[in-house]
Amino acid sequence: MFPAGLRLALVATFAPAALLAVDSAPRVAPTRPGLAAAAANQGPAAVGKPSSLPVTRLIGLEYFALRDVTALLGFKSTWVESTRRLTLLDATNRIELTGGSREIAVNGLRVFLGNPIIQRGGLLFISKTDLERCLTPLLRPALLGPLLGRPRIIVLDPGHGGQDNGMENKPLKLKEKALTLDVAQRLKKLLEARGYQVVLTRTDDRQLGPDKQTDFLARADITNRAKADLLVSIHFNSLYPDTKTSGTEVYTFTRAGQRSDRSWGAVEKDDAETTPSEINRFDPWSALLAHCMHREVIGTLKTFDRGQKTMHSIVLRGLKCPAVLVESVFLSNDSEARRAATPAYLQQIAEGLASGIGAYADLLEKISPKPAARPAVSPSNSKS
Ligand SMILES: [Zn+2]
Repeated sequence: MFPAGLRLALVATFAPAALLAVDSAPRVAPTRPGLAAAAANQGPAAVGKPSSLPVTRLIGLEYFALRDVTALLGFKSTWVESTRRLTLLDATNRIELTGGSREIAVNGLRVFLGNPIIQRGGLLFISKTDLERCLTPLLRPALLGPLLGRPRIIVLDPGHGGQDNGMENKPLKLKEKALTLDVAQRLKKLLEARGYQVVLTRTDDRQLGPDKQTDFLARADITNRAKADLLVSIHFNSLYPDTKTSGTEVYTFTRAGQRSDRSWGAVEKDDAETTPSEINRFDPWSALLAHCMHREVIGTLKTFDRGQKTMHSIVLRGLKCPAVLVESVFLSNDSEARRAATPAYLQQIAEGLASGIGAYADLLEKISPKPAARPAVSPSNSKS
């Protein structure tokens, strides 16, 4: 469990019956407001706890009625019966959720929950884990606790290296291990120019252990020893022999008790882990970091949005800080691979990642408690 839990603002004018109105109003184009603006819009100040919401047990898990969540977080909602879609709106956010689906849209970005939204008796329900560790962090980060300050030490992890080439595009002579290191070095320069302390898990073409397992663990160890405030693991995607698929994916470590995105295929086994890993303590912050990276990388590269997802990455599992793994484009797609072969595009990827880190850092600074103002010293009492 996340020790401090979540503190949720309670809306003073609680009117649940009015908040799930059936409505066939036309859809409005999704917006992408700044998260800082969202943080500033926290609604009424009264504070409640998740336990204040009635829990419903569905498919063996704890779920909350979205009608109650909507009220608690201060959203207005519209429900379209024909599409089973619920839209939540406040001054800065638009969230779309569909009964039976894990995919939701948060300000136009695709986010995959760890459990499906469930429809029962005319109401939609969201799992407690998804509400507390994924959705609330994106919408009301100031309600998380304990708050983290602005990050200072950033670890960049260029994926693969040495005998592990990662994904390859052989006709174009591209190796993932070389591209990840190139982007990491560009990103390091951008971040250092903005005042961050930056550590790379590798600075040349090498594997950090005799096999992949030890290599992954060495990367995590470097991150923890650096006392990092966050880690960004840099990768390029591939789905050979599929050469059509393109776009950007952003991953966090899978939340305890949920399946990773890759285990949702028809023939895949349930890979949920009941015991939380070290990094699960930072689930809400990782979700928020991923959302910032997701928005800024896609905004910079104009790539297809393949969503914010989760995986059981060994690199991320033991980290003592929030972390995200970014697969910016597909090397198995020739069009994206040709772009990735140019220094200008690698620079764009680095700039997108830097913007994401910057957005996350700005947001954390904005929601951090400000130190109390020192009492003014009157001139008559001051020592000369
Ligand atoms: Zn990779």
